[in-house]
Amino acid sequence: MLRPRSRTKPRGKGRGKKKQRPGNKCRFCRAKIRLVDYKDIATLSKLTTPQGKMFSRKRAGNCAYHQRVFKGAIKRARFLGLLPYVG
Ligand SMILES: [Zn+2]
Repeated sequence: MLRPRSRTKPRGKGRGKKKQRPGNKCRFCRAKIRLVDYKDIATLSKLTTPQGKMFSRKRAGNCAYHQRVFKGAIKRARFLGLLPYVG
């Protein structure tokens, strides 16, 4: 019995390769935002899971400085009840 020749999923080299974006990766650097606003829930919730956990630097694409500032902003927003600690 012959197997179909066409394959939908790519295999071998080049598989699972991520797209490389040119220039600055960090969204806050690109927007020239120095301090992350803790009241900006729309931006903060983009960088958290539905469970309320922060995305890693790699997942969020933040630079070291902005990940640190973002961490402080999200903790402040949680304390003020703007974002959930859990769930
Ligand atoms: Zn940055």
